[in-house]
Amino acid sequence: MELTVLGRSGSFGAPGSGPCSGYLVRSGSTTVWLDCGTGTFPNLQRHLDPAELTGVVVTHLHPDHCADLYGLHVLARYGLERAGIPVYGPAGLAGAMGGLVRDWGDTFTWHEVGDGDRATLGGLALAFSRTDHPPPTVAVEVSADDRRLVYTSDTGPGWSVAAFDPGADLVLSEATYLHAHRPSGLHLSARQAGEAAREARARRLFITHLWPTLDPLASAEEAAGAFGSHVTLAAPHMVTTV
Ligand SMILES: [Zn+2]
Repeated sequence: MELTVLGRSGSFGAPGSGPCSGYLVRSGSTTVWLDCGTGTFPNLQRHLDPAELTGVVVTHLHPDHCADLYGLHVLARYGLERAGIPVYGPAGLAGAMGGLVRDWGDTFTWHEVGDGDRATLGGLALAFSRTDHPPPTVAVEVSADDRRLVYTSDTGPGWSVAAFDPGADLVLSEATYLHAHRPSGLHLSARQAGEAAREARARRLFITHLWPTLDPLASAEEAAGAFGSHVTLAAPHMVTTV
């Protein structure tokens, strides 16, 4: 299984850190777009012909995680003439994005997912867990070939990656703030991300969704101190084997 980072900016895109949340997860001929944050669709096209996309997972309705779905819709409808692309996300996704796209037509097949749900997309098995974040938000465990990736999406400290089985091969965790500066409880600090991954016995930790004006190296250092091992700072176009 392979993870490609399309963007890691938390909440809004910025020149230094690029687009918002978005990732590709591949296994064999299956490729899933995991979160469609602002600015991630152009980066996706550097790594994949969108015609070959197997499906999409949207973790919640904040625009920095879903806005670029409209780009895929327009290309699929008027460029690829492709319909029925599966989209997994919280209840009400299509309707709530109706201010952006009034009529989705038959571009997507919508699948509602919530806490404890499981699904299969091509060769990838998906499991979902409701996080501590105001709009209905799901963390996602992606499994293939005995490897497991856990993506936290957005969460406050009231949820942890320990909601999934311990020992994930890679935890991709939000780490929006530095611990000394947490303006809200809607997100994790880098220290909290490191602590949670250590408690869940993650084999590797990547941090993402960093507030763009912070020093990302300071976040990586803080997370590594809490994790007790090296932490990788997610960056656009980074590709890693899970
Ligand atoms: Zn959010």
